[in-house]
Amino acid sequence: MDQSRYDVIIIGSGAGGGTLAHRLAPSGARILLLERGEYVPREKDNWSTRAVNVEGKYGTKETWRDRAGKELHPHTNYWVGGNTKFYGAALFRLRREDFGELRHAGGISPAWPIGYDELEPYYTEAEHLYQVHGERGADPTEPPASAPYRYPAVSHEPRIQQLSDDWARLGCRPFHVPLGVMLDERNPLQSRCIRCDTCDGHPCLVSAKSDAQVICVDPALQYPNVTLVTGAYVSRLDTDASGREVTTVHVTRDGAEEVYRGDIVVVSCGAINSAALLLRSASERHPSGLANGSDVVGRHYMGHINSVLMALSKCSNPTVFQKTLALNDFYFGSEEWQHPMGHISFVGKLDGVTLSAGAPAIAPGWTLELMGRHSLDFWLTSEDLPDPENRVTLDRDGRIVLSYRLNNEEGHRRLIAKLESLMQRQRACAVHGHECHQGLFSRNLFVGQRIPLAGVAHQNGTIRFGRDPRSSALNPNCRAHEVDNLYVVDSSFFPSSGAVNPALTIMANALRVGDHILGRLGTRRSDAVATAALGAAV
Ligand SMILES: Cc1cc2nc3c(=O)[nH]c(=O)nc-3n(C[C@H](O)[C@H](O)[C@H](O)COP(=O)(O)OP(=O)(O)OC[C@H]3O[C@@H](n4cnc5c(N)ncnc54)[C@H](O)[C@@H]3O)c2cc1C
Ligand code: SF4
Repeated sequence: MDQSRYDVIIIGSGAGGGTLAHRLAPSGARILLLERGEYVPREKDNWSTRAVNVEGKYGTKETWRDRAGKELHPHTNYWVGGNTKFYGAALFRLRREDFGELRHAGGISPAWPIGYDELEPYYTEAEHLYQVHGERGADPTEPPASAPYRYPAVSHEPRIQQLSDDWARLGCRPFHVPLGVMLDERNPLQSRCIRCDTCDGHPCLVSAKSDAQVICVDPALQYPNVTLVTGAYVSRLDTDASGREVTTVHVTRDGAEEVYRGDIVVVSCGAINSAALLLRSASERHPSGLANGSDVVGRHYMGHINSVLMALSKCSNPTVFQKTLALNDFYFGSEEWQHPMGHISFVGKLDGVTLSAGAPAIAPGWTLELMGRHSLDFWLTSEDLPDPENRVTLDRDGRIVLSYRLNNEEGHRRLIAKLESLMQRQRACAVHGHECHQGLFSRNLFVGQRIPLAGVAHQNGTIRFGRDPRSSALNPNCRAHEVDNLYVVDSSFFPSSGAVNPALTIMANALRVGDHILGRLGTRRSDAVATAALGAAV
């Protein structure tokens, strides 16, 4: 048997690739998972805010360029499990309406070629697979679900509960964030997750975060038919003479070149690297890049409009695990503003060390350390719209260039104003009485920091799927219109991004595409058996 030949080659082991490997593993098909990174080492630094946020110990050292040619250090991570090793594990479904066309103040968010109902069973499956802890029915914009969450929502700590009660009193409908952490609050001594303050942005030292490595890659590797090769940077894909089939996957590993062959090749390097790989794979048959006859590969890059906002108060915020509360009341608009605004939730608790890395403006009379102890640290997400000029290209040396101009900002500004108003209307603090109440209101101070271009955590949209090969690179099954055995299952396929975190949608879609590939493998295998039987009969 040709040892370099596989039934399926999956490139990238994050939310998309890792989940797909898990789906395909029981089929018996020969599967090769190629990952440029290694396993994240298990060490105390996993939970050090200095190592992670200040020194950037686990982030890539690669440099890209922005549209002006300025160097940019992307905040992204190349490891087995991809960016899910570092994510906050907030696992949201897109809203049903996000699958249709939505009018924003800044333009149109286009419809997807599949509806919510088609993805719904896979959302449920992904929630169960990734052990999401949540509550149904509390989020007012939540789409219908065919099954409850298997695990109860993660409880709020007192400061967050107080805020949730305040918001409810003001007529909002706050709810618990659906979270992929293996926390068993009824059984703390047995619980794998210890509810620590270094989750969002950090790898989990005790493997209690539901990331793609722990949940999907490692279990898939229990199957003898699944192979993982780490440190394997895929540099190029070549096709046969017709251009309709990828025949060769070129890998650089330990400084040497290797080639692999797969009947089916699935690209899942993250939206920016996947687009770059297809562009690098230009050939005579695909002069603008592999599968890029439509010229959409690399275009329509989206990354959400994200802000981290610290609300400071006289009262301290001793919360350990802060990311439990969210608000979607303004997701689609409000009485006075009929356009979508977005989603309000939290980042992990910020501390003085982390703040020194981001260097926010220091509020008068505060030190960074003090700010960290007194802040509520919000994460606001609004939808950015797909603009063909926001794109990934390659420079002359083959390096990634990310061109991006922010759009659709008005909704985000209004979302910030909504949060400000809600915070100013908080009730009296029970601990410090009226004095604190005064302080809480009068000293409420927002230190806003828009996430810069290097913050590519929510990257998506660069290889969009659709029905029309003139305006999309992938068909509704995420197979390239122009290449019969090439699929893409990371966040590249999004034609629009909604305003909730993307990972659960990537995972659910990988399961959906996995079923399609399984069907294809099954047909091929039964054909092979039939041909062999025929051969024997002749
Ligand atoms: C700090 C942080 C917090 C986040 N929090 C959340 C959250 O709470 N909820 C949420 O939904 N999302 C969150 N995200 C985003 C989420 O992690 C991503 O949306 C998701 O991981 C993307 O999945 P993917 O499969 O598209 O890509 P990735 O998970 O990035 O996987 C891509 C993989 O491909 C590999 N690769 C890249 N290029 C090559 C190549 N040429 N050859 C071989 N391998 C290659 C990479 O090493 C990587 O392993 C967060 C991200 C970050 C960074
Ligand atoms: S122990 Fe729990 S809270 Fe801490 S990093 Fe792991 S999953 Fe996150």
